[in-house]
Amino acid sequence: MSGAFSSEAQCEAYLFSQKYPDGFVCERCGSVAAPWRILSRHCLLECRDCGQQIGLTTGTIFENTKKLLCDWFRALFEVAVHKTGVSAAHIARVMGFSENTGLNWLRKLRAVTVNPERAPLSGEVETDTIFFNVQDEYGKGVEVPVAVAIEVERNIDKWGREHAMPGRARMGLLENQSAEAMGKFLKKNVAKGSTLVTDGGTEFMADAASHVKHKPEVTGQDWERARARMARLNLFVANFKMWLRGTYHPSPHLRLLKYYLDEHCFRHNRRKSKSPLKPLQRLLELACRLKAPKWRELQGASFSPT
Ligand SMILES: [Zn+2]
Repeated sequence: MSGAFSSEAQCEAYLFSQKYPDGFVCERCGSVAAPWRILSRHCLLECRDCGQQIGLTTGTIFENTKKLLCDWFRALFEVAVHKTGVSAAHIARVMGFSENTGLNWLRKLRAVTVNPERAPLSGEVETDTIFFNVQDEYGKGVEVPVAVAIEVERNIDKWGREHAMPGRARMGLLENQSAEAMGKFLKKNVAKGSTLVTDGGTEFMADAASHVKHKPEVTGQDWERARARMARLNLFVANFKMWLRGTYHPSPHLRLLKYYLDEHCFRHNRRKSKSPLKPLQRLLELACRLKAPKWRELQGASFSPT
């Protein structure tokens, strides 16, 4: 990556501006004097007035890293600009890492593709539960339910014809196929007063989903009608499956599925960006704001459904 982030000082300056958008304020004494930079230590600042030491990377994806910020920014660039995503092998090759390190970096990077403060979907929202084959802790294949919700964008073209296009999307791993689990997902991801377009499934009847209007339609054996009704959602799911098969392992591990779902939504929601730098800017902002999941979360047995 050339230009803006080619030196460590440029990356540090960017991180500093993200961390202190309104200028530096010491969290201990309130001093606003520009802090010293401790040159012998990586990303460490010291307050001029009280001597408090502040890790510039604390609370970011770069926390505790021994690698240069330049390397991280380069890896973020790779993830952001390749429209279909990159593999761990690609990261390893570009960065000169072992494949294992590449894999761990990619897992961390994927975890910051979600902005926790993102606005919920609104308007008309197609929703469904789909099933994915994943591997469980024992390497055995299992099917898990995944909630998918996608906004319908209605555009009128110059001939006055209406086109329904796929808008923003959300996916979430469900604990089970119950109304309660789907209700939790809807509460978090779909705004009050939106209209859910669904099939006749009973999982949308939960109390937790009472904040949305519900337009179920039982199409029975009429597959053509069912397909047309959920066309945006079906296309999105087909793209997801193709992407997963093409770029990654076709049957991912259960604990990693959440990150694949998040990454695909990130790419889908930014597919119209004319410049590849827009998604990069978004990723950089999130990387400077969010902590990466712990090593144990990425490697271990536990996972938390969304
Ligand atoms: Zn101070």
